[in-house]
Amino acid sequence: MDNGVVHHALFLCFPFGTWRKRIFGRATGSRTPGQDLSLPARCVVPSGPSPTLSMVPARRLLGRRGTSRHPGRCNLANGGSGLAWRTDSEGKPGASERGELPVSPALSLSLPLSSLLLGPTITMRADVLIAALATGALAAAVPTIPKKPTPPKGDVSNPFVGKTQFVNPEWSNKLTQTYKSFLKKGDVKNALRTLQAQKVSTFVWVSRLSELGRIDEAIATARRVQKQTGKKQIVGLVLYNLPDRDCSAGESAGELLSGENGFERYKEEFVKPYAQKVAAAKDLEFAIVLEPDSLGNLVTNLNIPLCAGAVDVYRDGIAHAITQLQQDNVHLYIDAAHGGWLGWNDNLPLAADEFAEVLKRADEASGKKNKIRGFATNVSNYNPLHAVVRENYTEWSNSWDESNYATSLAPHLEERGLPAHFIVDQGRVALPGARKEWGEWCNVAPSGFGPAPSTNTNNTVVDAIVWIKPGGESDGECGYINAPRAGHWHDEFAQQLVENAHPSVYEKWWKFW
Ligand code: BGC
Repeated sequence: MDNGVVHHALFLCFPFGTWRKRIFGRATGSRTPGQDLSLPARCVVPSGPSPTLSMVPARRLLGRRGTSRHPGRCNLANGGSGLAWRTDSEGKPGASERGELPVSPALSLSLPLSSLLLGPTITMRADVLIAALATGALAAAVPTIPKKPTPPKGDVSNPFVGKTQFVNPEWSNKLTQTYKSFLKKGDVKNALRTLQAQKVSTFVWVSRLSELGRIDEAIATARRVQKQTGKKQIVGLVLYNLPDRDCSAGESAGELLSGENGFERYKEEFVKPYAQKVAAAKDLEFAIVLEPDSLGNLVTNLNIPLCAGAVDVYRDGIAHAITQLQQDNVHLYIDAAHGGWLGWNDNLPLAADEFAEVLKRADEASGKKNKIRGFATNVSNYNPLHAVVRENYTEWSNSWDESNYATSLAPHLEERGLPAHFIVDQGRVALPGARKEWGEWCNVAPSGFGPAPSTNTNNTVVDAIVWIKPGGESDGECGYINAPRAGHWHDEFAQQLVENAHPSVYEKWWKFW
């Protein structure tokens, strides 16, 4: 019997009442053994031969506030060859790691129990099975009878009300690695939490021409789930491939360049097939986030030549995408950066002007009135929707959390005839004290998965809490030692997201008991 099984067995026998309180509270930035507490959590000096730690300025500016006051990243001067926070989950496979899982826990949870136990092609390790049983696979034993769609309650114009947010299996499967890492360490509590996190909805990013197929995969899965459950699915997509993309931060620079026919290619090879795919899936609803960070860069970062040169291509590119995505089943949210960027009083009207200009261009280009549902905030950032602690770095800003940012921006939008509706990315939320400066945007830790997606937002202008940036996918080679390139999986980071997850991510598990 390997470690994992012993722990699972103990777990199942333990009296839950008292134990629950002790281990299931929200973790508050627990530190990893060996971490040097004198440094910000993101900037741990690795053990072993010591590389030089240096601060380099944040490249995503805070609007009216200068970079020099915002050191943002910790890099290893030797190119990052030092050891990371933890080495214990790396290296040789332990006993519990031998052999491949034939199905991921995420997938196994959607199979009937009889297939789990008897299916000729599916076998599971005992520890996985026990964990799966403990976390709800039993529920799947009951045959699913498609339910009649229930009429939505609440604001019927809110496209998220009465719908189920799409769970992207591509992301859920990545978390299987995280689940295994916890089991390998004998950390059953977090292994179980990971199983719960795998069931959470995340947006599907389409960031390159070659990723357009992700839309087809999402559509096929969402249709299957919709048929099985009888509940309307709303699929979250990100459209992210402007020419000269990510003009200030650079970590997510794209494949298209305006100087190399990028604008035509964006329209013909990216937006056109994108729109055709979603238009053809009339049985599903889509929430589409348009081009994270781009208009924010036009509001505050025109001192950077690449941004200054991208003004028209960004405005016209987003305007074009809007005109092509006017189907009734599509709900567009233009990216509005986050409270620490556009939420300063001086920046709010400038941001609203920028959005109005883009809508104006869309109407001019198509010769008709175009509609968007609203704006997406905090995409790939770490601000809470409702801050428990007001951080010092928010200084005098009225937008000291994303709820306040939405409320502050709303009147400026309304003044210009724009819809004041928001979705807020809570895929990752920094723990109080994790950042010294609001300008820290890259792989911020300690952080946790934020509150689970929901339409209970406690703010009438906020349609939904959503997870847009898939937690565990890197923000870039910055902010956290040995972080991989943007979009690549970073399991160590994913582990700390699970450890610090908001209880709503895993609390449903308790309801089962
Ligand atoms: C990356 C994309 C990736 C997305 C989601 C962005 O920072 O540039 O390639 O798809 O994050 O992880």
